[in-house]
Amino acid sequence: MSGGEEPEGLRAATRLTRAGRRPEWTGRVVNTPVWRGSTHLYASEAERRRAGGRDDPAQFFYGRRGAPTQWSLAEALTEIEPGAHGTVLYPSGVAAIAGCLLAVLSPGDRLLMSDNAYDPARSMATGLLARMGVETRFFDPLDLAAYAGLVAEFRPQAVWLENPGSLTMEVCDVPELARIARAHDAVSLIDNTWASPLGFPALERGCDIAMMSLSKHVGGHSDLMMGSASAAEPLFGRLRRTALDLGQVVSPDDAALAARGLRTMQVRLAASTRSAARIAAWLAEQPQVARVMCPLLESDPGHALYARDFTGGCGLFSFVLETGDMDASGRVVDALKLFGIGYSWGGYESLALPIAPHVHRTVMASPTRPHGDAGATRPAIRLSIGLEDGEDLIADLAQALARMDEA
Ligand SMILES: *Cc1c(COP(=O)(O)O)cnc(C)c1O
Repeated sequence: MSGGEEPEGLRAATRLTRAGRRPEWTGRVVNTPVWRGSTHLYASEAERRRAGGRDDPAQFFYGRRGAPTQWSLAEALTEIEPGAHGTVLYPSGVAAIAGCLLAVLSPGDRLLMSDNAYDPARSMATGLLARMGVETRFFDPLDLAAYAGLVAEFRPQAVWLENPGSLTMEVCDVPELARIARAHDAVSLIDNTWASPLGFPALERGCDIAMMSLSKHVGGHSDLMMGSASAAEPLFGRLRRTALDLGQVVSPDDAALAARGLRTMQVRLAASTRSAARIAAWLAEQPQVARVMCPLLESDPGHALYARDFTGGCGLFSFVLETGDMDASGRVVDALKLFGIGYSWGGYESLALPIAPHVHRTVMASPTRPHGDAGATRPAIRLSIGLEDGEDLIADLAQALARMDEA
């Protein structure tokens, strides 16, 4: 940063503080300033002609291709994703999902999607992609034998993964799922929002494209919508081309906020993970709780794979009440005083949300599923643990659960 060579082998926490801060972008201040602009001015006609012909993601051209504020954030995200050549930014996580799928799929293609994928990804597959002539089938990511058979028979061009799965938090064997996909020439894409590359280096684990909603951990303060996708070449080039064709652009103010969040992401994630593990363990002992779905717990069916493949987690997990009805979930959530009721997660403030995962599933909600009831068939509550003191959150959960006994 002082102009010398970057030392080799820096660990993630150190890289997070330095990534993307090129001196030509930051000038004399620590962070890349907000470069607000649509028109970029050239010194001469010769310079304009040179710039127009170059397809460098960090090249002044026109506002739609961004400016140093966005380039700096994209470069920082690339630097924390081992194996990535570049990162594309999108105005939301859902826009990133669309950007990834449209970059790799064409009419007549086939997509395999994990049955516990984030619901808007499912809707995109069964709606927009179906309309574009792409056929999607859903699969149980825990049933490797059935998946291998499906890949061989259906011959998908792409496989969409999420680890752990949305709402029900099953951990799947991503290296093996991606290996099988690659053996059949399918690209594997992963929604890596839960762990981020700090907890799950997705490209190193065999995936070809790693996508994230930056609205969650990177933003970290519940005041920002953004998404990203990182890849090696040649897929990065396809992601970028598709995003340019779709006119995807993020505002420099938002990019500066996201970059600010990124600098503290590791300490926030470590704190909320520690607190979530403690709260999940406490919940598992409560008589009103039937099941906690949290791979941080040693008793969780996904913990062995979590321990093998992850280097960190986050504060998001779910639990099923003994009574198992949606009204009871609503009453518990209403009785909580320190948890907000709302969508999204990964902010500094804790959130609680009644969920009904089985409504969104095709194969995993089947009672004959070989892995039994993994929680996908019953209403539950999802918690996003923030940065409050964990003991205060436990006391709040205790009083809310106690109120259930009175009802
Ligand atoms: C929130 C979320 C998204 C979508 O991100 P937005 O920024 O809200 O559009 C994608 N995947 C997962 C797993 C999410 O939780």
